[in-house]
Amino acid sequence: MKHNFGAGPGILPHEVLKQASEAVIDFNGTGLSLLEISHRSKEFEAVLDEAVALVKELFSVPEGYSVLFLQGGASTQFALAPYNLLPEGGKAAYVETGVWANKALKEAKYFGQVQVVASSKEANFTYIPKDFEIPADAAYIHITSNNTIYGTQLQEFFKSPIPVVCDMSSDIFSRVVNVADFGLIYAGAQKNMGPAGVTLVIVKDELLGKTGRSIPAMFNYQTQIEGGSMYNTPPVFAIYVSMLTLKWLKAKGGVPAIEQENITKARVLYDEIDRNPLFKAVAAVEDRSKMNVCFVMEHPELEKPFLKLAEERGIVGIKGHRSVGGFRASIYNALPISSVYALIDVMQEFAEKNK
Ligand code: PMP
Repeated sequence: MKHNFGAGPGILPHEVLKQASEAVIDFNGTGLSLLEISHRSKEFEAVLDEAVALVKELFSVPEGYSVLFLQGGASTQFALAPYNLLPEGGKAAYVETGVWANKALKEAKYFGQVQVVASSKEANFTYIPKDFEIPADAAYIHITSNNTIYGTQLQEFFKSPIPVVCDMSSDIFSRVVNVADFGLIYAGAQKNMGPAGVTLVIVKDELLGKTGRSIPAMFNYQTQIEGGSMYNTPPVFAIYVSMLTLKWLKAKGGVPAIEQENITKARVLYDEIDRNPLFKAVAAVEDRSKMNVCFVMEHPELEKPFLKLAEERGIVGIKGHRSVGGFRASIYNALPISSVYALIDVMQEFAEKNK
């Protein structure tokens, strides 16, 4: 088996993949594939209900919030958030912490005025801006909790006088969050939750219906809420695998338990990077991500041979994003700590060979 450090679609628990593959042939003894039954069948409705219930339980979603499973990826939410929450003629605040945040704010410009309240662009997004003011007259403030490409992560969420909209695509369910602090949370599934093809949306109901604009059905959170994420045919397989992954997470002790594992995994890996003379972490120490660990080599000419050795040892997916270079080890929920130790072993072996 490979040690899968891919940034996304990322590693899923092996037992989930096994169960999912069985359901493709014979879903729960029905004699039919999960892929060939009606999404309105009681069997699939039970899957969707369980997926929603697991999200609510694992994230302690309070009353007054709706949980949706939509299509189009997080990138569609870049547009749907302002479409549904930004009133005609209104303004939204954005914190620019990377390419994804930038794409989100660009989409918001189709719907109103955008105020970028802080940006770390000048430092190639290696840190998270902290001292910024939240404009009281904005409809919401948009943040990205974890910046997948740069390996930075908001360590603590802030209290805000206006609703907080958060792209949690790359750290959803990796740590405890207080959903009540947010107006809208969205996340493409393909890192910590399931396969590509479904996007989780958790929205505070009272924020909806206030923009003054007409919204086409598929793009309207209200329609999706009323349709129970089944206004049209939902991505049944992606929802099923997400449900299995959430069940796996629950069996592991839920979000508080996985958070502790994630803290340990990140600590041992950053410790090695800090200790090993060949490697250097990219992100500001206080903003280091516990999901995407980005690092470069002191001598860039050693990157290729290191990658080769890592591949020989079964380590895959560690090549850094092209805009950062170097390496990125994504250590999502499903990555066992044994894989982190396998990477550390290779780093030490390589350092020994290149003294
Ligand atoms: N936001 C973040 C933080 C991401 O990491 C990604 C994808 N890697 C996206 C948004 C875009 O997600 P999607 O491909 O689901 O549109």
